[in-house]
Amino acid sequence: DLDRPLESDAPVELAPLLTRLDAQHRRLEAQASERRQYTANVSHELKTPLTVISGYAEIIAAGIAKDEDVKSFAHTIHSESQRMRSMVDDIISLSKLDDMGKGGASGDDLGVDMNQAVSLESLANDACERLRPYAEDHGVSLTCEIERSGNELVVVRGNMQILSEMVRNLVENAIRYNVEGGRATVSVIGAADGSAVVRMSDTGIGIPLELRERVFERFFRVDESRSKETGGSGLGLAIVKHAAQVHGAKITVMGNDPQGTIIEVRFPAK
Ligand code: ADP
Repeated sequence: DLDRPLESDAPVELAPLLTRLDAQHRRLEAQASERRQYTANVSHELKTPLTVISGYAEIIAAGIAKDEDVKSFAHTIHSESQRMRSMVDDIISLSKLDDMGKGGASGDDLGVDMNQAVSLESLANDACERLRPYAEDHGVSLTCEIERSGNELVVVRGNMQILSEMVRNLVENAIRYNVEGGRATVSVIGAADGSAVVRMSDTGIGIPLELRERVFERFFRVDESRSKETGGSGLGLAIVKHAAQVHGAKITVMGNDPQGTIIEVRFPAK
């Protein structure tokens, strides 16, 4: 109600007004500092692969690389560029989702259709298909399960691309943070009232209890080196969180028994 005009002859209560202004000022300061931190992180994350790429390219260009090394340098340049590309894609997705989540801009304003009928079943099947080779490379057996209520397809209202990215990020992590011979299961569960759950469970390395909230922060990693070695951008779960939020869905993280992680995204009844 700071925007409400003050009536000229009403007595002005200065103290509460100042308290409110002070609180608003502090909130804006915190947001600005968060934004500065994010920009610094993004620059740092992008500079690391760029340094590797330009270093190797320079050696090749100078003609001082041994023939047998050129191929492996080119391979590194290729994989680091792919890492940069997926990071840039993630940064763009996140900034779009961020704008939608702030309520300042609606999906419509940003050209995002939030009114599609999205089949969670096809998204899950699709993610499994695409990521099966990745799972096989890691010795992880990946399965997809659908539990319908009656014959009803499990469908939610929202944006297909955003939801598909959300599911893919969950499946990717369940493979990336798994162990050789482990399992990853994505289950899509529809209830009679139209509510739906996407549950990703794995038998991987697990997330320590005290860090289960923090993994949704941008660039937060439990194990920095493992995430980077396996090509993680550090933004996957931040995207998952925002994607759930713009669909009114709730996320829960649990430990799996005897080991691993379960992440559930719960969509409300229609
Ligand atoms: P990253 O690109 O590093 O995977 P995410 O935002 O997707 O970034 O995840 C943040 C961190 O949470 C990861 O670096 C990892 O430490 C942890 N994490 C995410 N998913 C899992 C999982 N299924 N099992 C164990 N740890 C996980």
